[in-house]
Amino acid sequence: MDIYNVVFYILLFIIGTLFGSFYSLAVYRIPKKQDITHTHSYCPNCNHKLGIFDLIPVFSYIFLRGKCRYCKQKIRPRYFILETLSGITFVVLAILMRMDMYNLTPNKIAEYVFMILYLTFLVLMAFTEKDNRKIEKSVSVYGIVISIGYIVYLCIVQEPDIYRYAIYAIYLIFYILLLLLDTITLKKYARDSYTNGILLTLVTMTIFTQELVTASSIIYVLLIIFFYMVLNKIRMHTKKYRSKIVKKEINKTLPIGFFLGVANFVMFTAILTFEKLML
Ligand SMILES: [Zn+2]
Repeated sequence: MDIYNVVFYILLFIIGTLFGSFYSLAVYRIPKKQDITHTHSYCPNCNHKLGIFDLIPVFSYIFLRGKCRYCKQKIRPRYFILETLSGITFVVLAILMRMDMYNLTPNKIAEYVFMILYLTFLVLMAFTEKDNRKIEKSVSVYGIVISIGYIVYLCIVQEPDIYRYAIYAIYLIFYILLLLLDTITLKKYARDSYTNGILLTLVTMTIFTQELVTASSIIYVLLIIFFYMVLNKIRMHTKKYRSKIVKKEINKTLPIGFFLGVANFVMFTAILTFEKLML
């Protein structure tokens, strides 16, 4: 690898950490219906506004030794980890998609940007769902918007194919039906439907990672649910765990959206790796 590519990948890593820092902020604020673009970042403990040097992804955490500059409250390492992972993912994705300094065609860049937009969707969906057991409406809508953008892009760059167009049309119809259903549930029960959120996620997933990857992600999640139920059955039979607290814990719903997101990401990168190694 020559020096230009090294610089290129370092740049992608930095962009990735910036996205990672945005992800932590968005995951924290979206469920609270707070603004994710305009309001200043602040320390959740002392409410002190954070300056530019407190907000440099990865590095601020290292230099401040994981503590708030103002109140010395420990910052959860989760932010640091998410930022670093995000940076690494941006680089790995570029390598898997065979993108480097010397083949930056508009198509290549567009494809990469769409994948990043999709990755953003996955992260926001999975982590807000994990914390609240709820697919946020704004995240679903974001997924629909980027999906439509991606479909338009594919229709422009791909060879005309009636079969493919029909499939895209079906996805769009699914979106409309699910959104209609969502509006009805909201009117009737005054809440968003969890199942609807998951189904909307599945449609977005299929548009970006295709049918096979989505299907295997679903199978993976079903396996997790199955093992979880078996495990609970076993735990229920042991005396020690028959307390009420455990029963309550067992009845808590699984973070299906989160598992789905992780599974989809793993399957998708696995297939890209496989393709890169084979072809
Ligand atoms: Zn503080």
